[in-house]
Amino acid sequence: MKQLRTRFAPSPTGYMHIGGLRTALYSYLYVKKHGGKFILRIEDTDQGRYVEGSIELIYRSLREAGLYYDEGPDVGGEYGPYIQSQRKNEYLKYAKQLVESGHAYYCFCTPERLESLPTVNGARRYDKHCLHHVSKEEAERRIANGEPYVIRQNMPTEGSTTYHDAVYGDITVENAELEDQVLIKSDGMPTYNFANVVDDHLMAINCVMRGIEYLSSTPKYNHLYDAFGWEKPLYIHMPPIMKDAQHKLSKRNGDASYDDLIEKGFLKEAIINYIALLGWSPKDDSEKMTFDELLQKFSIEGINKSPSIFDPQKLAWLNSLYIKEMPFEDFCNYAKRWIEKTPLNGKFSHELMCKLVQGRIERFGEIEEKLSFLVNFDKFDKELYFNKKQKTDSEVAKQVLPHVQARLQTVDTWDNATLYQTLVDLAAELGVKNGQILWPTRIALTGLSATPGGASEVAEILGKDETLRRLSISLATLND
Ligand code: GLU
Repeated sequence: MKQLRTRFAPSPTGYMHIGGLRTALYSYLYVKKHGGKFILRIEDTDQGRYVEGSIELIYRSLREAGLYYDEGPDVGGEYGPYIQSQRKNEYLKYAKQLVESGHAYYCFCTPERLESLPTVNGARRYDKHCLHHVSKEEAERRIANGEPYVIRQNMPTEGSTTYHDAVYGDITVENAELEDQVLIKSDGMPTYNFANVVDDHLMAINCVMRGIEYLSSTPKYNHLYDAFGWEKPLYIHMPPIMKDAQHKLSKRNGDASYDDLIEKGFLKEAIINYIALLGWSPKDDSEKMTFDELLQKFSIEGINKSPSIFDPQKLAWLNSLYIKEMPFEDFCNYAKRWIEKTPLNGKFSHELMCKLVQGRIERFGEIEEKLSFLVNFDKFDKELYFNKKQKTDSEVAKQVLPHVQARLQTVDTWDNATLYQTLVDLAAELGVKNGQILWPTRIALTGLSATPGGASEVAEILGKDETLRRLSISLATLND
């Protein structure tokens, strides 16, 4: 069997959308499993959609996600160039070849004429006017005179076409339903529909994996392959990714891209793991899988036909699992850039802050909010001292907090273990439950009903001075 060659062919529109990343991931997993080659091709024939810097963003996102390509614009390869705009001259040559063989023709219809064509099922269909009314000689003359033109594919009008997709099976369409699509636009650039076929052939691509939105165009591509006498690739189309039952996930409609997710503090491992599950499931139904496990388990049979819904909560859950199992040092390093941009930065021990939150966040973007009590200490309601289970309220607080204050003043080794022991020893001395000391102390130090960490952890991170300062403020308000 020939070596498997598949490609990821994004358009440089400014971001790596989730569907694109999934295509890249599945292509990579599939091809690596079969010892094939994974190729990156930039599809920038639609210059109107080009966004500065987005090609670099594609390179960076793929590398960051671990999807290393064997050939591509920045790594080279024997089938380059790998950027379509740099291949511009190729396409016209091939389109002319199709004009010669009768599989394509020049079209000079004005936008006004095209607009006036009747619609079929809501879509305007070209009526082959120029095929029938403009001879090849006339076409050449008009082109020589500088008249704008496009080249259209000449679709058969009778019979049907059956094509095969590895996920969706055999599909048959009536040829009469296939439009004479434009292959070369009036600016001389190829359409996506033409360029992708020519390039896939020239780059010896024998496996095409992409989103389902291209499934219905596949018979048109097959007619092109047949017209050229080229071998068709294996098609693998993937189900849509939805935001909800009605709407597709789309960056253009404000849904998150890969970079947005990274910015919110999702780990690339969790994103990749989650994206793998959007339209595919392994035989054993595992959910949390390392990249190596994905490589082992991935198969085309596991790709679902039905749409999958992007569930941010499930992604957050997976992410929290990855965060929890990060080695502490890695967590601290990774957390730096989130903490750096907050008022917490430099005020407290980085390690202690990390210790406090590692097991308590679903994404890194939550750190600031989770630890905001360290920098914000506002007036609070005395009712917060009330806790039925711990049998405390503001009266208990009034009695125990002066003791806590006095005792903490004597502590020299200011760490969680010592502080905890000091507070429980104090509870025993006073003959009260541990909670009757710990709860009021934590409330007095934070003014919040819930915080990550108990009284001793909070005191440790605040430091002795700040702990004592907050205790006296809280005591003064209690006695107001
Ligand atoms: N350039 C197309 C896109 O970004 C790729 C389609 C394909 O893989 O053929 O959607």
